Amino acid sequence: MIKLTNLEKDLLSLPLEELGEIAFEKKRKVSQDFVYFTHNYHINYSNECLALCPMCAFGKPLGKGYTLSLKEVEDKLKKLKEKKKNILEIHIVGSLNPNLPYKYYISLIELAKKYFPESTVKAFTATEIAYLSKKESKSIEDILKDMKVAGLDVLPGGGAEILKDDLRKILCPNKIDSFTYLKVHKIAHKLKIKTNITMLFGHIESWEDRIYHLKLINEVYKETEGFLVFIPLLFHPKNTKFEGKVKKVFPAEIYRLIAISRILLDIPHIKSYWVMLTPKVAQTALLFGADDLDGCVYEEKITKYAKRSSPDYLNEENLKKLIWDVDLTPVLRDGKFNIKKVYEKREYAYSCKH
Ligand code: SF4
Repeated sequence: MIKLTNLEKDLLSLPLEELGEIAFEKKRKVSQDFVYFTHNYHINYSNECLALCPMCAFGKPLGKGYTLSLKEVEDKLKKLKEKKKNILEIHIVGSLNPNLPYKYYISLIELAKKYFPESTVKAFTATEIAYLSKKESKSIEDILKDMKVAGLDVLPGGGAEILKDDLRKILCPNKIDSFTYLKVHKIAHKLKIKTNITMLFGHIESWEDRIYHLKLINEVYKETEGFLVFIPLLFHPKNTKFEGKVKKVFPAEIYRLIAISRILLDIPHIKSYWVMLTPKVAQTALLFGADDLDGCVYEEKITKYAKRSSPDYLNEENLKKLIWDVDLTPVLRDGKFNIKKVYEKREYAYSCKH
């Protein structure tokens, strides 16, 4: 049984507006009026998966899903390059597929770097890394070292779900436990590989579980300073074993969670992931302490399987408008949060010829 402190209980009962003000003030101290976004491209290399987590709509039994060949991945990258897209981050994640050789994973990273040497290659969740370590009988450290040599810059934060093993047994019984999940991140931090960290919410977890998760990841941050951004991911039950069995999460609860995350965490950035929240809710969450809107998100497939309602991608103008419309400043970044451009003033397009 998790016991909340008095402060945590207060955060749960404060009027939303007041809570938002406290969180926004803290966000301002960390990132002024900036809201970050990037041009990112997703490669979801396979969905054939051994784990078949009950909370996942993406993973399919072996032989019943898809797997991209290296040639297919290379063709996609080539086409993207020809279109002269200014890609700043390439996000590579997939499934636990026993039919893929070790070299395949290394080649994915090398291909991303070959076509977009300037972009941040953010690849493979802690779940995938731990799976590879077991499959290849190689240490997590050696796997990460090989990947770093190939061009890996950052680990994505997927697979954290809720870092409480009693809940993980229901949500994702075949995935690594919380300890191993955090161990992979700590080893990455030791090797000077920054990582992202997520939390899946809106399923069977309570507020106590959410706050426990936040405190746990903050402990790791205090120890390693290795997390770049915290990403609360709203659960979409469609096409999962939980469809019709979980309560809808309304926007007010999302705003409260983002505000509490900002208040409790030392991790510098909090993402308002429009892909799962919808652009409108993600925009309002910027007033509750979030300072990152993710990016254009070309070719993301994972949440499409759960029938999310957001558009396929947003272009740079769409993202800038969302940020300007709440009086904040859009900042283009790469996957390590290096600033590429600050859009100080709104660029009005006057059509008047007088
Ligand atoms: S969440 Fe990941 S490990 Fe679980 S079924 Fe989906 S793809 Fe596989």
